[in-house]
Amino acid sequence: KRTVGILGGGQLAQMLALAGVPLGVQTQILEPSHQAPARLAALHLAADYTDQEALETLAQCDVVTLEFENVPVQALTYLNGQVPVRPAPEILERSRHRVREKQALQALGLETAPFWPLHDVQQAEEALLAVGGEGILKTAELGYDGKGQHRVRSAGELRQALADLNAECVLEGVVPFVREVSLAVARNPAGELAFGGLIENEHQGGILRRSVFPAASSADTARRAREMAATAAQAWQLEGLLTFEFFELEGGKLLVNEIAPRVHNSGHLTQNGGGISQFEAQLRAVLDLPLQDFAPLRPCAMVNLLGWSAKAPDWQALLREEGAHLHLYHKDNVPGRKLGHVNVVGDTRELVLQRAARIEALLGTE
Ligand code: ATP
Ligand code: MG
Ligand code: MG
Repeated sequence: KRTVGILGGGQLAQMLALAGVPLGVQTQILEPSHQAPARLAALHLAADYTDQEALETLAQCDVVTLEFENVPVQALTYLNGQVPVRPAPEILERSRHRVREKQALQALGLETAPFWPLHDVQQAEEALLAVGGEGILKTAELGYDGKGQHRVRSAGELRQALADLNAECVLEGVVPFVREVSLAVARNPAGELAFGGLIENEHQGGILRRSVFPAASSADTARRAREMAATAAQAWQLEGLLTFEFFELEGGKLLVNEIAPRVHNSGHLTQNGGGISQFEAQLRAVLDLPLQDFAPLRPCAMVNLLGWSAKAPDWQALLREEGAHLHLYHKDNVPGRKLGHVNVVGDTRELVLQRAARIEALLGTE
């Protein structure tokens, strides 16, 4: 029997914990919020990140992993001396800061969106010119689901956005992508590598709405995505799972948008695609168990269920949909908040796309 400590108790922790059950893996979840999904799903311990007793319980685990990047440094430092923390804190340090992340990727020869770190308003004009007159201003840290971002088209807009965000920021050029895709790589301490499939992602307003496997990209693009992910996993001696978000350009070239040192929203479709799930892959990797590729074995898609402002989804109808699997996160409804997702599977990509469209209609997705 093995135990895995998980830092953070959101939906990713809930699904990691569930994936551990059939493997005989027990989880201890450290999460301060009493409203957090993994807590409400009654899956284990809640506490403050500085709670000594809770940290000691975690230190008794075989390994500690995480479901979000912004774990307080003190908690990590305490744990790191006592129990393996996987992925290693240096990998988090990199991926929680957009500038450090892009610089680390470029140092490996992996291309990113053009970017310009911004320290003061004086640089605004120069920066906007450097990225071609239009850009996306993002906070360097703590942004998710498109929060902490503004599209800017003039130096005036850029100054205003900097004032609104009031934090360290990075300005990115607008990438004219043909599609967005993602891919995860897992690596265990023994050095074995395994890959997820190339998944196609559709965002609206910076938030992921739908993911589809397989992506419409060519086999060659998928191969290059695996190579890029492997380059980073090996160079950084990854122990765990790392997800890459890419912009695919006309002609198939890939730029890295960002990376996450953990399971990812786009990988939720692996729960019902017939292969091993991204959650099982992360657990296996951090426990140093044998790995295998975790691409879905059949076409599948995921539709995010966002909080509604007008009409609740028709749950009865959703549960009657053939090939659909409902996954809820035990969260209160707040408009636009991720409350769950629906995975659909089918024999062909066409059928899966039809099923995803039906789910979107039932969810009232605009
Ligand atoms: P999450 O971590 O939830 O994926 P985030 O808040 O970190 O989201 P990003 O991934 O940086 O946000 O951006 C969200 C979406 O906004 C992207 O998936 C893409 O659709 C669009 N976007 C972001 N940056 C750019 C860019 N430089 N050029 C074109 N589109 C972009
Ligand atoms: Mg992000
Ligand atoms: Mg993103």
